[in-house]
Amino acid sequence: MADTQYSSTTKKDDLIVIAGAGGFIGGALARYFQNKGFTNIRAVDKKPLPLWYQRVEGVENLCLDLTNEEYCKIAVRGAKEVYNLAADMGGMGFIERFRIMCLRSILINTNLIEAAYNAGADRYFFSSSACAYNVKLQEDPNCLALKESDAYPAFSERGYGWEKLVSEMFCQEYTAERGMKTAIARFHNVYGPWGTWDGGREKAPAAMCRKVAEAKDKGICSLEIWGDGTQARSFMYIDDCVLGIDKIMHCDALNATPVNLGTSEMISINALADIAMECGGIKLEKKYLLDAPKGVAGRNSDNTFIKSVLNWEPSITIADGLKKTYAWIQSQYDDRKAGKSTVKDIA
Ligand code: NAD
Repeated sequence: MADTQYSSTTKKDDLIVIAGAGGFIGGALARYFQNKGFTNIRAVDKKPLPLWYQRVEGVENLCLDLTNEEYCKIAVRGAKEVYNLAADMGGMGFIERFRIMCLRSILINTNLIEAAYNAGADRYFFSSSACAYNVKLQEDPNCLALKESDAYPAFSERGYGWEKLVSEMFCQEYTAERGMKTAIARFHNVYGPWGTWDGGREKAPAAMCRKVAEAKDKGICSLEIWGDGTQARSFMYIDDCVLGIDKIMHCDALNATPVNLGTSEMISINALADIAMECGGIKLEKKYLLDAPKGVAGRNSDNTFIKSVLNWEPSITIADGLKKTYAWIQSQYDDRKAGKSTVKDIA
């Protein structure tokens, strides 16, 4: 990264607030900032503490429902930086089925950004998604990679994608009208340890790893694949994601400017299944569920813009990232089978 792009006046004891920190990316971000030496981190999530994926030692944990305006004020009191990673979301199975729940996440961003502004926060980060892009451009599995301008004319994923697009606009208008610094990253499929791996909200990489672990355990010979497996995506490992959030948040040239945060390594779901099987050291017969939710045919991240501004792009390959993810999911699977808790406290 060119250092000139990193513009932060945040001191190590300034308050950083992370909304959605009981979830996958928010939890990883709390750990990332703690590892960087920040000593005043407040993690907020609506889930009760025992259900948080990671609880980072030394971090203040608050259980608050951030759709509520008053709770947002409590959450951001004294904050120098606010990161909004809170949303009701999941993989395709979730976002195609629970559109109202996805749309209602707009209440979180609407109330949180207003509270952050009123609290005098310096910078505000919003976690947008590749689902904000025009779905008409994603009907071909060999689609061209999506560049930032492809979000308009708008034709987002119903529910989840529209919520992201409108929340992006909120951020842009808080910058335009009120001069608040905002950062907007459009994540492309994030995966890694401490992500959701079962229960219906998990995404393809975690689901694939779990199915392989389960097949090994139960002697199942097939691997269920949603759709015909030709749908293609790019997948970003969590370490690239949290590093990218930090870089984007602290780059003034990206103020109020949506930017892709994903890898440009596009692979099919069939290829993803092959890698998961390799990680598990087993060969299974692919069984295609053609009626299952499968999302758009093809989607990749065009990283021309992020590279031009940050001189950086996510680069951890799916082969490397999935190996670590598989090992973690296998251990979670084994722990659960042995009746052990699967939530970890990270020192
Ligand atoms: P996650 O589900 O693991 O974490 C989201 C957290 O937000 C959960 O712990 C949930 O309890 C919390 N939350 C939901 N409603 C809340 C509320 N009203 N008040 C307080 N907390 C609330 O999801 P994640 O994968 O960590 O995603 C984080 C952000 O990144 C979300 O905005 C998501 O839309 C976005 N995103 C993620 C991906 C991905 O592949 N994981 C891709 C694109 C965008």
